[in-house]
Amino acid sequence: MIVVMNQEATADQIQHVQDKLKEWGFGIHFSQGVERTILGVIGQKKPGVMESIEAMDGVEKVVPILQPFKLASREFQSATSEVQVGDVVFGGPKLVVIAGPCAVESEEQMVMTAKAVKRAGATMIRGGAFKPRTSPYAFQGLEEEGLKILKQTSIEVGIPFVTEVVNPMEVEMVAEYAPMLQVGARNMQNFTLLKEIGKLKKPVILKRGLAATIDEWLMAAEYILSEGNYQVVLCERGIRTYETATRNTLDLSAVPLAKRLSHLPIIVDPSHGTGKRFLVNPLSKAAVAAGSDGLIIEVHPDPESALSDGPQSLNFNGFETLMKEITPIIYAVGRSL
Ligand code: PEP
Ligand code: MN
Repeated sequence: MIVVMNQEATADQIQHVQDKLKEWGFGIHFSQGVERTILGVIGQKKPGVMESIEAMDGVEKVVPILQPFKLASREFQSATSEVQVGDVVFGGPKLVVIAGPCAVESEEQMVMTAKAVKRAGATMIRGGAFKPRTSPYAFQGLEEEGLKILKQTSIEVGIPFVTEVVNPMEVEMVAEYAPMLQVGARNMQNFTLLKEIGKLKKPVILKRGLAATIDEWLMAAEYILSEGNYQVVLCERGIRTYETATRNTLDLSAVPLAKRLSHLPIIVDPSHGTGKRFLVNPLSKAAVAAGSDGLIIEVHPDPESALSDGPQSLNFNGFETLMKEITPIIYAVGRSL
């Protein structure tokens, strides 16, 4: 069960609720967000307890939650959350399209790409400055220089960006540059990183781990939420299966399933989800049809010479075609661009 204190609750009132819960033998997870204080109550349900707590001063509501993830669950909040980055809203009526290269390579590459994808209809750009590559010998990213390029591009082209943070010690530094952070698949269960991001009031995309169940993914989101950061967007990016014809198996059932279990917005990454350029267009369409709140797509001016993930990157023409072909589907599911 979760106890939500109202915004005007005093420190004494919050303490009193905690004292009572302890007296009744419950464990408490205390979460002080910017907007509200939440007490996660751990222990067996006892008759009459919910009603007693609800009657206490400063308590807004008591929510019984059966799922292991509490703050992320639909039981806790029935309406889909909206996560805002500048003018971009995840979880609202508009489909969010994020596009850009896998890795930031140069200012020229970023500005060219940002202009092209914006013209084609993207409302946000992506680009990795820290690249968690499978091989230590592969390009690792431009690091802080890459963040500077992203920020400069964003100002010049007038479009916000998202970028990955891989190290808990670098969260604050990356957040100084970026309006939205990304936790990559390989770090989905890096709980130290999740907790650091949870302490910020900064939107974050949480990618599904390579072999994570939906429950594990939502529990990872819970780590961020329970630290007080409620601006989490989930991202399905494919999971590891026995299939080798694609880089990953894009699990589109995760979209309606996660939406049923959680109020968090969810987007789909068909680039990492398939690893193959020709599959990005059809799987983007399927993701929108399945109810995804957005897409994140790798686009490069010259995929053949990309320093990472060229085989799954679209060129500008490919992205423009995708945006044209996807528009009727966006409207068919009752959304707009
Ligand atoms: C990325 O989006 O740049 C990335 C590395 O993706 P993932 O973490 O899903 O592999
Ligand atoms: Mn990539």
